[in-house]
Amino acid sequence: MFCIRKLIRRTRRPLEELTEATHRVAAGDYHSRVTPTGDEELRGLAVAFNGMTEQIGRRFETLAVLSKLDRHILKSSELEEIVQAVLKHARDMLPCELLAVLVFDENCADVARLHVARYAEEVITCETRVEVPAALGSLLDTCEPIVELQAGDAAFESVRDLISDWRADRRFGVLPIRTDKGVQGAVAIAYSTPNASDRASLDFALGLAERLAVAISNADRRHALVRQAHYDGLTGLPNRVLFKDRLAQRIAHGQRSRKQFALLFIDLDRFKNINDSFGHTSGDELLKGVAARFAEELSEMDTIARLGGDEFTIITSDIDSAADAANAAQTVLSALARPVLLGDIEHFVSASIGIAVYPQDGVTTDILLRNADIAMYRAKAAGAGRFAYYEEAMNREAMERVELESELRQALARDELSVVYQPRIDLRTGAIIGVEALSRWHHPRFGMVPPGRFIRVAEDSGLIIAIGDRVLREICSRYHYWRRAGIEVRRLAYNVSVRQLQAPGFTKTLREIVERTRIPRGVLEIEITESVLATDIDYLTAVLEELSAMGVKVAIDDFGTGYSSLSYLRSLPIDALKIDKSFLPPPGERTSAALCEAIIAMSRALNVVPIAEGVESPEQAAFLLANGCEIAQGFYFSRPVSAEDIVRRYGREAYSEELGRGAVG
Ligand code: C2E
Ligand code: MG
Ligand code: MG
Repeated sequence: MFCIRKLIRRTRRPLEELTEATHRVAAGDYHSRVTPTGDEELRGLAVAFNGMTEQIGRRFETLAVLSKLDRHILKSSELEEIVQAVLKHARDMLPCELLAVLVFDENCADVARLHVARYAEEVITCETRVEVPAALGSLLDTCEPIVELQAGDAAFESVRDLISDWRADRRFGVLPIRTDKGVQGAVAIAYSTPNASDRASLDFALGLAERLAVAISNADRRHALVRQAHYDGLTGLPNRVLFKDRLAQRIAHGQRSRKQFALLFIDLDRFKNINDSFGHTSGDELLKGVAARFAEELSEMDTIARLGGDEFTIITSDIDSAADAANAAQTVLSALARPVLLGDIEHFVSASIGIAVYPQDGVTTDILLRNADIAMYRAKAAGAGRFAYYEEAMNREAMERVELESELRQALARDELSVVYQPRIDLRTGAIIGVEALSRWHHPRFGMVPPGRFIRVAEDSGLIIAIGDRVLREICSRYHYWRRAGIEVRRLAYNVSVRQLQAPGFTKTLREIVERTRIPRGVLEIEITESVLATDIDYLTAVLEELSAMGVKVAIDDFGTGYSSLSYLRSLPIDALKIDKSFLPPPGERTSAALCEAIIAMSRALNVVPIAEGVESPEQAAFLLANGCEIAQGFYFSRPVSAEDIVRRYGREAYSEELGRGAVG
């Protein structure tokens, strides 16, 4: 009897404990455990209960974490955010030390974006472009939903390399992320403890890979929709919707920067004929060919779009003046100069282009577009293969520019260009110490064309290179001529444009001419404006240093009118600053000119020679000398004159005679 009661007590207590624990589990407490007591069967039951509770607990936790991720996927449209959430929450369920997610590039599976969470250091990193190792790529194509890699496997080293994880005891679990398009990425789990690869963890990892696959598919679908809505299906160029959006952005930028830009409206000439004679498929091919040509040859333009049919639009980058838009239009016309090949037939395509300039021709997208369209019809009416501005006055100017360019081309052949020289004077002695060479163009019909009008055209057309070389040859040949006449020209200065500096071979030609004409070191000087500083500064530094090593001096022309940063004065080999005439006190007045004084003081402090230009009165000359500027040019001393006139004025016999008449200094 005693024995039975004892037996019942020994059995009842563990059973009661089990019942209570079962209730707790039912209420959601999966941490509930029972102490294995009683006889062997009861202890076995307790152990089995604990094991089951733990399993159920982990399952629920897994489901909770995965459903949290599901909510993210439903809520967020950004793949990046979802990957970040996966990396953040995965740690709750995966006893790993490092987790990596690799997402292949949409267009190329050889490159990918790599996110890595290093849990010990609590950092998550992202590399936007890594190369996918070949061994890993081929493993992913064929492997099971999950593989475990160990030292010795072909893909093992590549995964280690990729995520820079070099621990000796490392193992990796790798899961391909498969969507209906194939493998689009991978998850890599790094761990050193063997229990990290238990069934529950593996199931969880599979759940992660599946969710990432869903997120990637969603992102793909969204990209496809965005592309469809914003790009033209035939040519791949931005469509009307995106174009208008970009135009609106450009207008907003223009409002802030106060810069101009042009809108080009392009309509192919006689495109209907192609459709009618060769069929619509050929028409489509031609449009594709034209779009490809534009994309290839007009890459410096901001946006090239297809509005529909045979209509394209281009938004140019910033332009300095409305006239610059003509260059853009000319570039479009020359892009079409070569025929477009359809099958084996060459088609010559031309286009009519209308130009509207922001802000003068409109400050809203609709008005700019309408005016560019109107201008396009004007161009069409004038004959195929032309461009026209919306504003009539601009058309005249553009015509003149085109005419000027072709005349300038001939001017070189007809030898209409010449060089005049403006003396540089030492203000202390009144003696000539150098000259600045300035180009002149005597046109048989137009008369004297000032450099202000033709240098820009020469720069835009590239003719400046030939003009610059001629000027240099001419002035170098004059050096010895003046020396023989007893004039000590210590400095031969000539103006050099950005286009010349950028031209390959600029320094080589200069060196050849200087050597051939035996100009001593330190005599030749190039004058460049501050606008050159807006170009590639490394390239500019290299060119100027090469010149400096050749003994060529460098002066900054029109100093103070352009660039705002002055740091280049220290870093570039600059020898002189030419103070722009706008900084001088007005001729005839003895007022102070604070900026002029400051420029002189600054150049002296930087060991750069200040040279004043545009001096027109004795008061200005006196002011400069009093403030420490000893070299000057200007009408007060002499206008630019011919090489012969320099000899007449400053040559041995003539010099004293001229001085006597008070014409010099
Ligand atoms: P710049 O190099 O600053 O030349 C000074 C300009 O001011 C010259 O005009 C000169 O005739 C004028 N000038 C000189 N003294 C006075 C004065 O006392 N008062 C006034 N009001 N003006 C004065 P120009 O010859 O018409 O040349 C204009 C610009 O054209 C030059 O400015 C230079 O930037 C450019 N240029 C001229 N020839 C060439 C060339 O061969 N190549 C290049 N790249 N540019 C050139
Ligand atoms: Mg100059
Ligand atoms: Mg100047």
